Amino acid sequence: MTTMSHHILPAELDDLVARFEVRRTDAPTSEVERASLLAQPRFGTVFTDHMARVTWRAADGWTGRRVEPYGPLQLDPATAVLHYAQEIFEGMKAYKHADGSIWTFRPEQNARRYARSAHRLALPELAEEDFLASIAALVRTDVAWVPDGEDSSLYLRPFMFASESFLGVRPALEVEHLVIASPVGPYFPGGVRPVSIYLSEKYHRAGPPGGTGDAKFGGNYAASLLPQMEAQQRGFDQVCFLDGAESTYLEELGGMNIFLVMADGTVHTPELGSILEGITRKSIIQLARDRGHEVVERRIPARELVSGLESGQVKEFFACGTAAVVTPIGRLASSDFDVQVGGGEPGELTMALRAELTDIQYGRSEDRHGWMTRLA
Ligand SMILES: *Cc1c(COP(=O)(O)O)cnc(C)c1O
Repeated sequence: MTTMSHHILPAELDDLVARFEVRRTDAPTSEVERASLLAQPRFGTVFTDHMARVTWRAADGWTGRRVEPYGPLQLDPATAVLHYAQEIFEGMKAYKHADGSIWTFRPEQNARRYARSAHRLALPELAEEDFLASIAALVRTDVAWVPDGEDSSLYLRPFMFASESFLGVRPALEVEHLVIASPVGPYFPGGVRPVSIYLSEKYHRAGPPGGTGDAKFGGNYAASLLPQMEAQQRGFDQVCFLDGAESTYLEELGGMNIFLVMADGTVHTPELGSILEGITRKSIIQLARDRGHEVVERRIPARELVSGLESGQVKEFFACGTAAVVTPIGRLASSDFDVQVGGGEPGELTMALRAELTDIQYGRSEDRHGWMTRLA
């Protein structure tokens, strides 16, 4: 893997993007149609006119860097990913700043995680430069699709899958990397609302360390769907999973990391190992430390959280990830307990961290850690 030792410079990004051949659609969405789609963005249902793509063959490595019209893929029924789930993905956003420039948040972190996920799923690693360039090439081609408006952005979904037609069980010799983009509006259109969480004692999302929990792998999500459905049938918004070895320690939600804020001001979050290392998680840890909070990454028994919520030792409980940024949790329950968090109101530190992070992402406050990369 090529590792970039420094933050990417605009001129370097131009050179990398120039390696992508752009074949524009001859049926672009009209301006009027796009304006109406952007006025009411529906996450994950509307996509921009193009997609970025790079193809890998065991014999040739990565070739065919391109941006092409968005459209269906034609797959042989024996395509390996359909049988053995050899697939990974990423999730990030492009933000429009007040001056019209387009930025993304810590993309080198996504690039590195993509390479780590690829390694775990025996997929080829895409160089950080190609990862970044594929994103920038797509965003520049479809720049008119980046919404403005409070808490709106262009969600970017890079993904990689085994495209070889072969039913034998071994790493595929043909792989595709694609990036698609979907405009998104505010995650909480009516204002931030605390969510309710069901703690799953029955199911796990991934295995203990050594499993796939620390890879951004579609299979982890497939495993979370049944518990998520059962929790929703019980009237809960989301599921929190416990560790896969002892069913004792808090891990994370299906797609978000979790944090506890204690009465003494310390902030606690489950340690890495079998959870996904969120870039929002990493950034929240930094921002909390900047504010003078001690942040502890450790194994947190679920029982400790429940008794802490009952006794008042735990003041705030929240989840975080790119899609919803920071989500306050207002209720935690399982088969034998049901507790409120902070009277069901969003926590003070929770909301302060949320505001601080979004202010950096939307260019409303100084990017003091150098987290933003300009794409266009
Ligand atoms: C993507 C993801 C997260 C959040 O990661 P961010 O980089 O903060 O978006 C957390 N947990 C899981 C399982 C994920 O797939």
